[in-house]
Amino acid sequence: MQGSVLVLGAGMVGVACALELQRKGLQVTLVDSREPGSETSHGNAGVLTRSSIVPFNNPALWGALPGLLSNQSASLRYDPGYLMRNIGWVTRFLLAARPGTFERTVAALDQLIRLSLHEHERLLAESGQLARLRSDGWMFLYRQAPRTPAMRLQVEMYRRCAVEVEELDPAAIRALEPALRPIFARGLLIRSAHSVDDPGAVVRGYAELFARRGGRQLRRKAVGIERQAQGWTTHFEDGGSEQAGQVVIALGPWSAAFLRGAGLRIPMAFERGYHMHYAGAADGAPALRRPIHDAQAGYVLSPMRRGLRLSTGVELNALDAPPRHAQLEGAQQAAAQALELGRRLDESPWKGARPTLPDSRPMIGELPRRGLWAAFGHQHIGFSTGPGTASVLGALMAGEPAPIDPAPFAPQRFQGLGPAGSRS
Ligand SMILES: Cc1cc2nc3c(=O)[nH]c(=O)nc-3n(C[C@H](O)[C@H](O)[C@H](O)COP(=O)(O)OP(=O)(O)OC[C@H]3O[C@@H](n4cnc5c(N)ncnc54)[C@H](O)[C@@H]3O)c2cc1C
Repeated sequence: MQGSVLVLGAGMVGVACALELQRKGLQVTLVDSREPGSETSHGNAGVLTRSSIVPFNNPALWGALPGLLSNQSASLRYDPGYLMRNIGWVTRFLLAARPGTFERTVAALDQLIRLSLHEHERLLAESGQLARLRSDGWMFLYRQAPRTPAMRLQVEMYRRCAVEVEELDPAAIRALEPALRPIFARGLLIRSAHSVDDPGAVVRGYAELFARRGGRQLRRKAVGIERQAQGWTTHFEDGGSEQAGQVVIALGPWSAAFLRGAGLRIPMAFERGYHMHYAGAADGAPALRRPIHDAQAGYVLSPMRRGLRLSTGVELNALDAPPRHAQLEGAQQAAAQALELGRRLDESPWKGARPTLPDSRPMIGELPRRGLWAAFGHQHIGFSTGPGTASVLGALMAGEPAPIDPAPFAPQRFQGLGPAGSRS
């Protein structure tokens, strides 16, 4: 049983981990209650970019706080009751915006993203999906010309991490994206960026590659895990169970609730987000060539196979709280000023949740239970960083040197999740 692994969760992170552990010669079973890539890894904006190194909790957040208190900002809304119930997480999230912690996070995310982009290219090629990858960058757009402290910080971090960018004036924006109306005073083209036209399909393609290579998949809902002398038993909602030497928890936003059953408290909060697809211009004129982020209006528009996908900023709220569509309505109004959106294509908005730990770094490594591994907490960048996470996790599980420093991602950085001596 020692060579057997159960990977719980078949989002981008779980599927990438399953492929990597399979490559290492382990007997891998991938478990999900739904089809692979149906949840958060389906609904995202499909951007894979070197520029995702600056998390929401950066030193400029402190200055922005008074503006966020109104709870009307397009980029961040919150449920006050949820924040009060999670005040410990909120405090730690704000403290992680201090320059020292922030700079360590930037350096760690930069390493993880570089590794991930490399691994994505390999996996896209191996799964026959390279045609899905657009490599023409992504764009930040600003309606006002003066730079804010947040923009200055962003550009400084890009310079430090050698992220290739190009400043754009209105004429340059028009040349790159002719369908946009001339409402933007400035832009920033991130050259070291890619995007895909259907994130869920990419995950399904990776899961098919795993199956073609002999990987086993189960469509079952896990309800608990139990330590055995030789490994772990995972129990399912249908009453069945599976034994494995080791278990990887890659349940995205559901990871924290699941691990509570094993007596582990994971400091995770939910940055919820919504999306809606639009048909674009009635005359069928091409809309966008690449994803754009209208920074002050707080939305992202991505050209997808289904249409233009409008995705929203952050709503801090409980995972299962009822949807609130005000942010999406506001984003739609703002996006319609920038581009002809056309009619809505979905019956109702999609809702998902970015799973976020207080320092905005994912958790990758062994939990304080031998043979139980963490691969979750990827906030805004899990679609892009799943494969890098898998590479790090695979090396740690095999006892090999990791391709990047794993320490910034270790569960042990949080109280109650380490050190190794506390394992049971
Ligand atoms: C609006 C929005 C836009 C985003 N844009 C981007 C972007 O452009 N680029 C980027 O890199 N990231 C983006 N993200 C973030 C990214 O989508 C997530 O970080 C990532 O998808 C998390 O992947 P995951 O595999 O950890 O989780 P998920 O994809 O949620 O996978 C978890 C899986 O676990 C399964 N599961 C849950 N509970 C159980 C159970 N009990 N038993 C069995 N299975 C279970 C679920 O069915 C699911 O398939 C965005 C997120 C949002 C919300």
